[in-house]
Parts: sequence; structure tokens; C-alpha cells
Amino acid sequence: MKNLAILGSTGSIGTQTLDVVRANKDLKVVALGVKSNIEVLEKQAREFKPEMVAVWDEDKAKELEIKLADTDIKVVGGMIGLFELATNIHSDLLVTAIVGMIGIWPTIMGLNAGKDIALANKETLVTAGHLVMPLAKEKGVSIFPVDSEHSAIFQVLHGEQHSDIEKLLITASGGPFRGKKTEDLANVTVEQALAHPNWSMGRKISIDSATLVNKGLEVMEARWLFDVTMDQIEVVVQPQSIIHSMVAFKDGAVLAELGLSDMKIPIQYAIYYPEHRYFPGERLDFATLRKLDFEEPDMETFKGLPLAMEASRKGGSMPIAFNIANEWAVAKFLDRKIGFLDIYKVIEETMEQHTIVQDPDVRTIFEIERDIYSWLDKKWQF
Ligand code: NAD
Ligand code: MG
Repeated sequence: MKNLAILGSTGSIGTQTLDVVRANKDLKVVALGVKSNIEVLEKQAREFKPEMVAVWDEDKAKELEIKLADTDIKVVGGMIGLFELATNIHSDLLVTAIVGMIGIWPTIMGLNAGKDIALANKETLVTAGHLVMPLAKEKGVSIFPVDSEHSAIFQVLHGEQHSDIEKLLITASGGPFRGKKTEDLANVTVEQALAHPNWSMGRKISIDSATLVNKGLEVMEARWLFDVTMDQIEVVVQPQSIIHSMVAFKDGAVLAELGLSDMKIPIQYAIYYPEHRYFPGERLDFATLRKLDFEEPDMETFKGLPLAMEASRKGGSMPIAFNIANEWAVAKFLDRKIGFLDIYKVIEETMEQHTIVQDPDVRTIFEIERDIYSWLDKKWQF
């Protein structure tokens, strides 16, 4: 049996992780955690019978406690809930399917408790990779990437030597606006930006895919996971999302991982690594596929990627500033307070005014968040 604690169980990655659990009799859920959706969490709790559930919203936690009074499932609210979930003594693997840099806390708590991590929450590595990666090493625990690109690279690198890597080739679909120019993007709607051609995902990452910020976050995530320099990373647009990423080795050989666009496959691999366990469903059919296309990313229109690369090159707390500005801007765009192109503007002006801090600790990271949020709230009054 493998026991899982799943943080973000009502989200896109969280519900697909539960699908993987349903399909595998040797998986058990010991803890589930969400922000506020207790209607879905109650159903999940009754189906999977975890020892505990965590709800970030304390009032909702109290409501759920009453609803689950006929069970022996413990309900814990707020940060303490996230802590109890992340450190649950019976869990073998913590799945971080939470969205945003709030994920830093439970990830660090889980690592301190010696938990292996199946990491979907890329914002944690982007903003706290300098704390998380050394801590994982110190505690002797593994971080298994869930993000499809990183899972692909992780699969390709299995059994390979790090010193043989020439480049990581991270693929991108190009998002729903591929081929459009800046003037076409000024008035795009939230609905258009949410309509990703190949993947069905949570709202925040869907917007990030439309701006190509997601690819920028993935470049930074890859630097931490695979210990490479910016010059060793190239982004290649592969519109069909069949190639999930590639590694170019020093002898010129390029190895790729190909497959259908189904996040349950990288989730399952992160759970069972290094086993490629049976997964039911469709298979790639090269006869009907016939061809794969490749393009260069349009960095002039989709500034999310070049801005992220700049932030990563500048280093220190600049990727943190980049991520915070983006989280703020995406929330405002989803609220229809700012336009699509304003997301780039917010990130650019935040990076311009940010004074880099070297090696910030967790407390400093969240101080930077508070400062940037209040600066942006003042600057952009609605
Ligand atoms: P989502 O919005 O669908 O779900 C987010 C989940 O996090 C929800 O269950 C929500 O309740 C929970 N959550 C949010 N704030 C919380 C808090 N303060 N306390 C407790 N729980 C909280 O998001 P998603 O698309 O599943 O993405 C999750 C993460 O995985 C993101 O970092 C995203 O970038 C990454 N990711 C997602 C996909 C995908 O296909 N969806 C692919 C690769 C990586
Ligand atoms: Mg991805």
C-alpha cells in the first residue's frame, strides 16, 4: 500500500490524482486539503475515508466538521490544517496540487517531516527553489515532478548522467492565442484566454498558458529540478502537445517523451516512479498522427516567457517578484479589472521597481509579497 496526502484535491490536478487512486487498489488516501470547496471535499471524504481533511477557510472548516460529524474524519482549518496534512504520520507521499506560492509552506513542512513530494505546484520552486531543493537533499527525500514537461525530462533522464546533458528542450503548445499579434490581444476576453487547445486545467494556469508566463515559470522550475543554467534551456513550440519535452545530450542525441495530453499519466508516474505502470485508454497512433509541427516561440508578442527568462537571469528575489506580480495580475484579469496585455505591464513595472534580495528566507519571501501587493493595489486603483 502507498498512502497519499493530497493538497488541492478539488482542483484539476487534485481530482485527476483521485482518479489515479480509484484505478489502483494499492493506493490509499490519508489526507485531503482544499481552500474552501467543502461541498466537493465532503463527497471526496466520504468516498476515500481519509484520516483527516484540511480546509484553509476556517469558517468552512467548522461547517464541514458538522457535516462530517457522523464519521471519524478529523477536520482541521487554516495553516494548522495544511501543516497536519503535510506532516501526516501515515503518508508516504505528499501531492502538492495547490495553486500559488502559498504552496511553499506545506511543501517545506512536508520536507521537514521527511515526506517524498509529487510536485505540481510550480510556484513553490520558482519562488523558493533555493530553500526547497537543498532541504530535500538534506532530508534525503525525493521530489517527483508532475508538470508534464518536467515529468518528460525526468523520464528521459532516468539512468542518464547529469554531466552528459547539453540542453533541455521544453515544449510549449503556444496556448490559445498562438499566431496572434499584440494588436489582436488587447481586447481578448477571460473566456477566450481560458480556452486552452490541448489541456483542461485550473483557471490560473490556463491564463498563464495564454500569456506564456506558464512556460516562463516552467523554465525556472526546470532550473531548480534539473540543476541547469539558463543557457542550457530552450523552449520549442510543439502545437499538438504530443512531445512533452526533450533532452539534447552532448553527443547530439535527442531523447523525447511522447504521449497523449493526459495529466493522469505524469501524476501516476510521480506516484509509482520508476515504474511505467499500466494506464488504460488511448494510445498514440503515428499512422493517424502523420506529422508533428515545431515553431519558435513568439517572444515579442508573448512577453511572459522573455520576462521570466530575464527574472531568472537577474536571480535573487527577481523570480519571486515576477511570480507575485503575475499572481496579482491574473487574479485581476479573471476579475475583469484589467485587460490581457496589462498582465505584462504589471509584471514589467513590478520587476523595474524591485530591489533584489539575495537568498531570501520564507518570511522575507512573504514580506516581499505583501509589499508588492500593497504597491500594486495603490498603483492600480479600480
Ligand atoms: P486548480 O485551481 O484547479 O486547483 C487548485 C487547488 O488548490 C484547489 O483544490 C484549491 O482548493 C486548492 N487551494 C488553493 N488555495 C489553497 C489554500 N490556501 N489552502 C488549501 N488549498 C488551496 O489548479 P490546478 O490547475 O489543479 O493547478 C494546481 C497546481 O498545479 C498549479 O501550481 C499549477 O501551475 C500546477 N499544474 C497544473 C496542471 C494542470 O493540468 N492543471 C499542469 C501542470 C502543473
Ligand atoms: Mg506544464
